[in-house]
Amino acid sequence: MSLEKRVVVKVGSGLIVNQQDLNFRYAFLHGLLSDIADLRRENYQVVLVSSGAAAIGLGALGMRPETAGVQDKQAAAACGQPLVMNMYKQISMEFGMNIAQVLLTSEEMENRRRYLNTKNTIEKLLENNILPIVNENDTVTTEEIRVGDNDRLAAKVSQMVRAPNFVMLTDIDGLYDRPPSEPGAVFVDEVEDVSVYLDATKSKGALGSGGMLTKMQAANMAQNAGATAFIAKGIVERPISSILKNERRHTRCIAIGDPESSWRVWLTDRLQMAGSLVVSAEAAEKLVAGGRGVDAMDVVASHGEYSKGDVLHIYDEDGVEIGRGLTNFSSKETVLLVRCPEDEVTAVLGYHSKSDLIAADNFVVLGKHHLLWDQPTPEPMERAAQAAD
Ligand code: GLU
Repeated sequence: MSLEKRVVVKVGSGLIVNQQDLNFRYAFLHGLLSDIADLRRENYQVVLVSSGAAAIGLGALGMRPETAGVQDKQAAAACGQPLVMNMYKQISMEFGMNIAQVLLTSEEMENRRRYLNTKNTIEKLLENNILPIVNENDTVTTEEIRVGDNDRLAAKVSQMVRAPNFVMLTDIDGLYDRPPSEPGAVFVDEVEDVSVYLDATKSKGALGSGGMLTKMQAANMAQNAGATAFIAKGIVERPISSILKNERRHTRCIAIGDPESSWRVWLTDRLQMAGSLVVSAEAAEKLVAGGRGVDAMDVVASHGEYSKGDVLHIYDEDGVEIGRGLTNFSSKETVLLVRCPEDEVTAVLGYHSKSDLIAADNFVVLGKHHLLWDQPTPEPMERAAQAAD
């Protein structure tokens, strides 16, 4: 089936749970599922990414969102997730829809095997006309594997299933060029380069974890994967179809270029990175020109502890991120190879391997609109070997 009518919809906690009494907002939820049922009749395939577990579960712990810490929220999510699914089950029965729960952590996004496995499961659900309802598995996450906000989680899901439409429903009608509370704030209908608006988006919702900033980051991930991201108010009739059919106000972050290969998308748009390499100015120039990977001779410094198969940031000596790539060596091995760039890998490491740190096929130059990461450690540039001494 064509992917054209595939849509990932993200609904935040503030829409699902009433902030005052921490109860479900049934009228909204009923309208949401009714709209999804209509879209499915029009042959759309919908994946719903739903928050709300922690917010609704806080009641069981007798706590309020303002005072709950991370562990309270994890326990609250354990209480709330079955309530969220039960609510969806009750309502979707009215529309004759089968639903499924998909709980993810960033591991399912970053580890290639788990990623493909999760993708296949979601594909199988869609093939069987079941509505997948995705959330982060908050109960088991630790700081290292936590996505933390469902905006970026949903963007990853939309990349994963190659949905050309990614709709984020929230409590505001879209993006403004400055915080909407400021006088003169102007609504932005269409965005090509989200980095222009990053400073204007620092405010955060009361119940959820994201805000406009994470929505912009999420939109950028979707854009880079060839999808259009829509941001709009949730509390309206037909909240999704009215956007897809362009019948009401929303911000549209347009897809950049053609959908990139799924490998390229997986490699470049990540939630966490294991480490980074800094390459010389000369090497950076050659890498940006394309067609080559990273060689031990190129490296000026290595940061972080990483393993073979991890994805690394590649920075130039000015701290500008130029690309991302999958490393053939651990950080310890990399340091050894950089220390003796002209020696045989076998002689240095004691086993036979290809000599390039990152193969050309596993290195991607970042496009013009890709949000860059800041170089993590502003320490003086030293050869990785010296840094390890
Ligand atoms: N996973 C969280 C929950 O279900 C929500 C995260 C977010 O607010 O984006 O409560």
